[in-house]
Amino acid sequence: MISFKNVDKWYGEHHVLQHIDLQIKKGEVVVVCGPSGSGKSTLIRCINRLEPIQKGRILVDGMDVNDPRTNLTRLRAEVGFVFQQFNLYPHMTVLDNIMLAPRMVRLMPRVEAEEAAMKLLEKVDIPDKADAYPCQLSGGQQQRVAIARGLAMQPKIMLFDEPTSALDPEMINEVLDVMKQLALEGMTMVCVTHEMGFAREVADRVIFMDEGILIEENTPDEFFHNPQSDRTKDFLGKIL
Ligand code: ADP
Ligand code: MG
Repeated sequence: MISFKNVDKWYGEHHVLQHIDLQIKKGEVVVVCGPSGSGKSTLIRCINRLEPIQKGRILVDGMDVNDPRTNLTRLRAEVGFVFQQFNLYPHMTVLDNIMLAPRMVRLMPRVEAEEAAMKLLEKVDIPDKADAYPCQLSGGQQQRVAIARGLAMQPKIMLFDEPTSALDPEMINEVLDVMKQLALEGMTMVCVTHEMGFAREVADRVIFMDEGILIEENTPDEFFHNPQSDRTKDFLGKIL
């Protein structure tokens, strides 16, 4: 579903992704971890071309992400993205936030879009917030709306960039529970997160990055109990 072939990216002189090779199968849940500044956000932002690359190739469901002929709208419809800072439109209700892409991109009639959006709100367990504005919701509720919005285009892949890092501790689980549910339903997911409980329980694979290099990838069990590189051991020592 996602394939990185010898991918390099620079920000000016800074070699932020170095020779990345990575294959992610349909239905796989991959957790990406590593120190701040190691390139985790950049890595996943390349998947839906929020960032261009300078070398190598990224394929997403058969689409060559960096080929100028690739239809970006179609690519992004297949790849939902959830950010650390929710990024909901503050002047729109919850329902309108969720319906926006289907209505604008798919030209879905209002009634149909509304019905689909309500289903998604039920899925993330806040159907009663349909007419609320983002500022009237808790952080955990806003992030669940952001997930519902990410799902509105019926994507094949969901990317999460530290979705719980901006939340108060008591709200983290309500968001992780929604993500677990998605994983159980077979969604292909790439999650940048430091929630190692989630990684242990849900991930098929954990990837560790440092200084733009993919240092190690393994099953959660092997990753936590038998880390291969010193950098991974050092990192795990700090966060566990
Ligand atoms: P992480 O998500 O692991 O914290 P990032 O992918 O955000 O790391 O950033 C990796 C490195 O690239 C950092 O050193 C960061 O400062 C730098 N960086 C990120 N975005 C930009 C940008 N738009 N322009 C220049 N440098 C950037
Ligand atoms: Mg980041």
